[in-house]
Amino acid sequence: MTMDTQTTDALVVGAGIAGLAAALEADRQGADVTLVTKAERPEEASTWWAQGGIAVTRDDPEQFAADIHDASAGTADPDAVDALVDDADDAVRDILVETLGVEFDTNGDGYDYGQEAAHDEPRILHVDAATGKHVHVPFLNYVADETDVRIREDTAALELIRHEGRVYGAMLEHDGEWAPTFAGTTVLATGGIGALYPRSTNPDDATGDGIAMAALAGADVADMEYVQFHPTAYDGDGEDTFLISEAVRGEGAILRNGTGERFMPDYHADAELAPRDVVARAVKTEREETGEVVLDVSGIDFESVFPDLAEKCADNGVALPEIPVAPAEHFLCGGINVDDRGQTTLDRLYAVGECARTGVHGANRLASTSLLEGLVWGRRAGEAASGFEPQEIEAPELLDRDPALPDNFAREKFHRLRRVMDERVGIERTTDGLQRAQSVLRRLKGEVDAYARTRTSRSLYELRSAAVVSLLVARAASENDESVGCHYLVEETDAPAADAD
Ligand SMILES: Cc1cc2nc3c(=O)[nH]c(=O)nc-3n(C[C@H](O)[C@H](O)[C@H](O)COP(=O)(O)OP(=O)(O)OC[C@H]3O[C@@H](n4cnc5c(N)ncnc54)[C@H](O)[C@@H]3O)c2cc1C
Repeated sequence: MTMDTQTTDALVVGAGIAGLAAALEADRQGADVTLVTKAERPEEASTWWAQGGIAVTRDDPEQFAADIHDASAGTADPDAVDALVDDADDAVRDILVETLGVEFDTNGDGYDYGQEAAHDEPRILHVDAATGKHVHVPFLNYVADETDVRIREDTAALELIRHEGRVYGAMLEHDGEWAPTFAGTTVLATGGIGALYPRSTNPDDATGDGIAMAALAGADVADMEYVQFHPTAYDGDGEDTFLISEAVRGEGAILRNGTGERFMPDYHADAELAPRDVVARAVKTEREETGEVVLDVSGIDFESVFPDLAEKCADNGVALPEIPVAPAEHFLCGGINVDDRGQTTLDRLYAVGECARTGVHGANRLASTSLLEGLVWGRRAGEAASGFEPQEIEAPELLDRDPALPDNFAREKFHRLRRVMDERVGIERTTDGLQRAQSVLRRLKGEVDAYARTRTSRSLYELRSAAVVSLLVARAASENDESVGCHYLVEETDAPAADAD
């Protein structure tokens, strides 16, 4: 495929659950839709990796809303939560069940609802413990085969085309070539920011591009300090960091420290099913004090209830029933600030899914609500973003390629960025550490910008995205002096001088 200037009514950037839902709905409204994804394979989206499932109301929206508010420590936006629970069952039925034909697990009484941390009752629809791929693959196939949406894979949006507060599309890159796609509306659905941290459950290229592009174009971002760390990611000698879903603890698995003791009852009345931030900090503390933490699955029928996870454990040589675990970056609660239809503060620019800040999660996300958020806001934004004609304006000028960068330029900068984010902007933060992180990140961004102005490679723009978003996270964290949810401040210690260049 060569890159030509193109026009479309709606340009959707990102093919996870949120982008697919937006594209599907805009197509249903009769819009001409172009969906671009920098991925070459479905696995390059967090949606594919989702394990636990997708929460629904089970005819008790008030209790579902109450659980979301409790998990967020009262910081979630009540209007956004109401929008989520109001649309939840209809969105799941309409798109997942009736349109895609997803067959959620059942038992003798109907759906086999799962339970996860901080949910008052079992309300999570799932397919095995690999819900993501059972939703994502049919969704991609449906949009490709049954709609008029034009899908362009391995195609990255790296810069928005904007003029005086309005967005007119994006500069797209494929195979080293660039061209503008002008759009009546642009919907960002670029997912999370896992690539900013050394340990993450996200795909490797979750560099926060949409957030960086929107922020650089002048859109508001909010709640960036609320980066959720999952307490139980595999931490062993194997290559992969992979998630051990909360559903495993929901089923009855327990956490033990290096001396074999079960410790969660000492930290919270709900023990292993306490809110994620509480469990993540406890796991971090126990690892530091006792050397390791394992998830003990001896009390449950792990292999038959979680066959995919059991297979991954086997691939990584885990000696069941004890799985070594550590916290890993998992989800960004904040992002591009949007209203109840996904509209950003820039005209004709929408954002949905993990890159958006709807207000649903506040300072801490309740498990199994983000697939739902992507579905609900994707559908709403897809409808709102239809009906606008594209207009061509002057596109950003792209400069010629300079001689190649040093081979290890991006690798070294990413390494430095991740180290600073891990040590200064991680699960626990200090006021001084956040200041230092910002100064390192500012310097790093300056070095990256010097190259990004003259070179047009995708990896460099991803590095720039990561640098911009890291700074947004560090700055938001240093401006918030209240420990709440995922943002946890501790007293200064003699922290290691990791950020010395
Ligand atoms: C291991 C794991 C387990 C999880 N389990 C659950 C769960 O059980 N339940 C739940 O509700 N949530 C779960 N989550 C969270 C949830 O999966 C994600 O928050 C959600 O899928 C995000 O969807 P999204 O559409 O916003 O982004 P993604 O699914 O990450 O998709 C992002 C898309 O944007 C594309 N993209 C990014 N940048 C660009 C660019 N510059 N140009 C073009 N394309 C771009 C990517 O290629 C990709 O197609 C889990 C997450 C992980 C990582």
